[in-house]
Amino acid sequence: MADKKLQIAIYWGAGCGGCDVAVLDTNEFILDVAGLADIRLWPIAVDGKYKDVELMADGELDLTLYNGAVRNSENEAIAKLLRQKSKIMVAFGSCAHMGGIPGLANFCKKEEIYRTAYLDNPSIESGNQAVPEPRTHVEAGELEIPYFYKRVYKLDQVVKVDYYVPGCPPAPNQVKAVLLAVASGKLPPLGSVVGASDLAVCDECERKKNEKKVKKFYRPWQIIQDFDVCLLEQGIVCAGPATRGGCGVRCPNTGVGCRGCYGPLPNVKDQGAKFLSAVASVIDS
Ligand code: SF4
Ligand code: SF4
Ligand code: SF4
Repeated sequence: MADKKLQIAIYWGAGCGGCDVAVLDTNEFILDVAGLADIRLWPIAVDGKYKDVELMADGELDLTLYNGAVRNSENEAIAKLLRQKSKIMVAFGSCAHMGGIPGLANFCKKEEIYRTAYLDNPSIESGNQAVPEPRTHVEAGELEIPYFYKRVYKLDQVVKVDYYVPGCPPAPNQVKAVLLAVASGKLPPLGSVVGASDLAVCDECERKKNEKKVKKFYRPWQIIQDFDVCLLEQGIVCAGPATRGGCGVRCPNTGVGCRGCYGPLPNVKDQGAKFLSAVASVIDS
């Protein structure tokens, strides 16, 4: 382990904050992190400023964990700034890794999102038709807010990413894995997915698997499930066959189908196509 403390940043782009909570969920390990590393920027928890990062030398940070997707000009500018200042850039969590839940907005146009959020919305004061503008003139001067892009980007569409930590959010053991790998200098090859498995969620799931002949699919609340038997076999949709494992089978173990948050298996480009093929193969036609 290095004798000098690691210099790290944790940043959130377009995300929900759950990935930051995952770091806190490491419980007492967070105290080891404090002993191991100086946290130089972590907007949710530490009072670092962008200006402090701008003043750093290039590569001064050993590691940045960037969670959240890139949705606006601020997300992009800070991703580029942290890339420049960091030796290792990690896409942390599904949103940074694959676009995640914010990425679903790519099915809609920016105008449709604005209409739903700011115009045709019962929580908006009647008659208020204001939508966010990058620049607004007020009595005190010019106000500037980030520019909302037409689409959502995953982190590696904006900057070079060294490692990926999947999950929505990643399991606490992955937070440990990535920090300890950087601290010990024992890093996997660049571009690797860290702290997850190369096997599918199904391979780690202990529910009984029989020959699947599904006649009908159900929402989880439409049937009383057998907790010992594969969900897919019971007609409850589960993306376990098409999803990288390593999460501890978190969802099926609590009675909910996997939603694919650990991303595709190694050598699979299209997780959705792999999932559809898995579902199609169990239908009793
Ligand atoms: S990956 Fe999940 S937990 Fe993390 S920011 Fe995105 S939505 Fe939130
Ligand atoms: S499909 Fe889901 S419930 Fe069935 S074995 Fe795979 S992970 Fe478990
Ligand atoms: S079971 Fe699937 S959706 Fe749930 S945490 Fe694991 S990979 Fe993510």
